[in-house]
Amino acid sequence: MVTSYLGDRTNLIDGERVEASAARRLEVEDPATGETIATIPRSDARDVERAVAAARRAFESGTWATSTPSDRGRTLWRLAELVRARADELAHVETRDSGKPIREAREDIAGVADILEYFAGMASKISGQTLPLPGGQLGIVLREPIGVVGCITPWNFPMYVATWKVAPALACGNSVVLKPSYLASLSCLALGELALEAGIPAGVFNVICGTGEEAGSPLAAHPGFDMVAFTGSTEIGRSVMAARAELVRPVQVELGGKSPNIIFADADLDAAAAGAAFGIFYTQGENCNAGSRVLVEASVAEALVERLTARAKALRVLPPLDEHSQVGAIISARQLEKIDGYVTIGRTEGVRVTTGGERVTDAPLDRGHFYRPTVLSGVRPEHRVFQEEIFGPVVTVTTFTGEDEAVALANATDYGLAAGVWTSDVNRAMRCARRIASGYVWINTFNTTPVEAPFGGVKSSGFGRDCGPQAIDNYTTWKTVALATEPFQDWYTDGQADSHQG
Ligand code: NAD
Repeated sequence: MVTSYLGDRTNLIDGERVEASAARRLEVEDPATGETIATIPRSDARDVERAVAAARRAFESGTWATSTPSDRGRTLWRLAELVRARADELAHVETRDSGKPIREAREDIAGVADILEYFAGMASKISGQTLPLPGGQLGIVLREPIGVVGCITPWNFPMYVATWKVAPALACGNSVVLKPSYLASLSCLALGELALEAGIPAGVFNVICGTGEEAGSPLAAHPGFDMVAFTGSTEIGRSVMAARAELVRPVQVELGGKSPNIIFADADLDAAAAGAAFGIFYTQGENCNAGSRVLVEASVAEALVERLTARAKALRVLPPLDEHSQVGAIISARQLEKIDGYVTIGRTEGVRVTTGGERVTDAPLDRGHFYRPTVLSGVRPEHRVFQEEIFGPVVTVTTFTGEDEAVALANATDYGLAAGVWTSDVNRAMRCARRIASGYVWINTFNTTPVEAPFGGVKSSGFGRDCGPQAIDNYTTWKTVALATEPFQDWYTDGQADSHQG
């Protein structure tokens, strides 16, 4: 498929397609073939400055911020329609840029349209409060857009995660500067172009490309942003939080995960094995909420490992544009190294590799970065592969006895993004859901993140929520207006001020 979203791309600032100030470019690699499919601007602090100034002008002009909520909603709905109309082309770009199977990219793009439609509807439901105050005052509590929002997003769900932030921010009337990951920016640039086509005014939604160090870091440290929304690793999230703390400005961070997928002996074991495979191998395991730690009740551990191993072996690792592909390419050579490195660490720690544990070197996959779906069994909480985010198609299996141990193991890492519980006992499922420290719990299912429900973490997985009505909290601020409904009572009428002066 020939697509206009490949080739030499430009930043989008103030409604214009512009080069980076330094006129430098980054090459974009197709991780499945090693080919260069596009180039993007290599932006730096000057481009951040330009984008934030444009966003501020647009915000102050009020063309978007003070437009009616239903007008904003209609425009976001038009954007959703454009995304649906170009879904094939966008999915193709997403697959070439990120390496994910085309079937999954289609799911992402449909999800992008869902998110836009949801927040299009939300725009007209954002309201403040009135309340009686002492002294006969009427309190009018306004819910206002926070102002200029900076978004920094990752490469694993490029357009989808960016839309999680951009859609609610725009619905509230803010102006936005988005900096996607340089490893997968193309669909985000497409989103910016489609937004202009949908009628979002120039300067309201700007997209700048570049590396984290050169473009992300100056964005995080820029006082012109009233709020920064970040999704990415815990390490970088911490540095973004530090930069915002210096400025005393709010930040929302969605970070890494090491999600447990708990399988009790009373679960439907075939369904649990299918769910465990889907939980880790979707998007090659490059998924923040991946069920990367299977915790299984000892009495069914052997049967489960057998089923999970068989499923992992049977998955089709194919070029991601192939309709039959179930496991695509890893985003970069560096990420592939990291994944393989962790499997080596696991081997040294004494865990058993029941399948996978190696790169795929058969042609034509040898041109790209492919890794076999991998199952590590005999894993204990003290192992690094149990504690650290691998971000690849590698699942660890740890056994437990009883509910208390299952919950203790689930909570035994620094992360707290999501979790799964497989059981036929609904009471147990709910008890576990309440005791697990995480922002999301799936019961007898995994991985679904519909826009209707809030998504986010606890502990080192971050705070604040994407999706659901809760997302609006990130992008609005409250202002109390106190209106006197009775004549003003002069505080100084008792004459004390005069008598003090002698
Ligand atoms: P990353 O932290 O390396 O990069 C994320 C973004 O931050 C990119 O746009 C990058 O360019 C930018 N960045 C890098 N250095 C920066 C700096 N010093 N200052 C400011 N910005 C900087 O993460 P990644 O490798 O792109 O994505 C993978 C990580 O994202 C994983 O840890 C994963 O769990 C996490 N993630 C979390 C969620 C969630 O919702 N919790 C969703 C997707 C991914």
